[in-house]
Amino acid sequence: MSDCIFCKIAEKEIPGNIAYEDDKILAFHDLDPQGPVHVLIIPKKHIASLDDVAEEDQELLGYILTKVKDIAKDLGLVNGYRLVVNCGADGFQTVKHLHFHLIGGLKMGWPPFTNK
Ligand code: AMP
Ligand code: ZN
Repeated sequence: MSDCIFCKIAEKEIPGNIAYEDDKILAFHDLDPQGPVHVLIIPKKHIASLDDVAEEDQELLGYILTKVKDIAKDLGLVNGYRLVVNCGADGFQTVKHLHFHLIGGLKMGWPPFTNK
């Protein structure tokens, strides 16, 4: 999608600090990390949000979830991590290209919810 910043990173039109890439997905470091490790895992296909996932995306989304542990391991997250998807206005999604926040390298608490 032409005006989507994450599509532009996937297409190398703007730079990203890439942690993992293959033909279907990309993982790159977040510009504003919320932990010692914070990468965004995206499908290269433009899907705006979880609300826009279609039946035909089942395999792609399953593929992403099978890759998380490998990306986490490569980033040194041997003690666990958190995977977060923000969706829509209430979920505070700011970039309208589906992305999974993979955050780790710190001991987290629960619940995580805040409106700051
Ligand atoms: P969300 O609020 O879930 O939509 O998260 C969007 C994330 O994208 C935020 O954590 C931003 O810091 C991050 N972000 C925005 N632009 C870039 C960029 N050009 N490169 C890396 N991360 C970005
Ligand atoms: Zn996009």
